[in-house]
Amino acid sequence: MPSNMIFRMEPFEDRELNQILSDSMKELNSFYGINWNQHIPRLVVVPNRKTVELWKQGDNHGWITGWLEGRSVYVVDRTALQTEANKTAETDQYRALIKHELSHAFYNIVAKGGRGPVWLQEGVAVYSSGQNSFRTRPAVFHQCLEFYSRGGKDVYTESGYMIQLLVDTFGKKTLLNLIGKTKEANSPEEFDHLFESIYGSKPTYQYFNNLSKNN
Ligand SMILES: [Zn+2]
Repeated sequence: MPSNMIFRMEPFEDRELNQILSDSMKELNSFYGINWNQHIPRLVVVPNRKTVELWKQGDNHGWITGWLEGRSVYVVDRTALQTEANKTAETDQYRALIKHELSHAFYNIVAKGGRGPVWLQEGVAVYSSGQNSFRTRPAVFHQCLEFYSRGGKDVYTESGYMIQLLVDTFGKKTLLNLIGKTKEANSPEEFDHLFESIYGSKPTYQYFNNLSKNN
């Protein structure tokens, strides 16, 4: 048994985090069209990078700042983010980071145990948490669709805007319909067919670049 496998946890009060949690729950309930108000997610603040690395051992994709386990959202302490990762953690961005991870929990409920491609999961979390406003819209979509079953930091640059295009063009209900059916698709080919049955085309770069031209 490796050392450093035991962690201590205790509750604390934080008005700002409490506000972020309750606002996010309200906004995400509205976004996903559900009413999740019992057994709601817990927020666990992880104090520093070292703790993240020990917690995530064997499963570390670099400097992770937030993640979801079951229905618990883990987020690195805001001050540690600024001092150790040299990341800007302005209130709005920190709020969006927490909302992003919460959004994954909502997605999982709407997907009823389905998952869909990583670009869809991350794109929906980025879009619904408002993180697009901290990123530049890509001129061309050309790398995001590679992220079907693997993650990576490059998935975030395009996926949020791809979802925004789908919502702006076809509405949110259509997107929720797709998420709700991901369980039916057990391979990239099956997902292509599912996507085509809803949006009229397979999800290709050309498809998203065309949507982009018209928006
Ligand atoms: Zn995510």
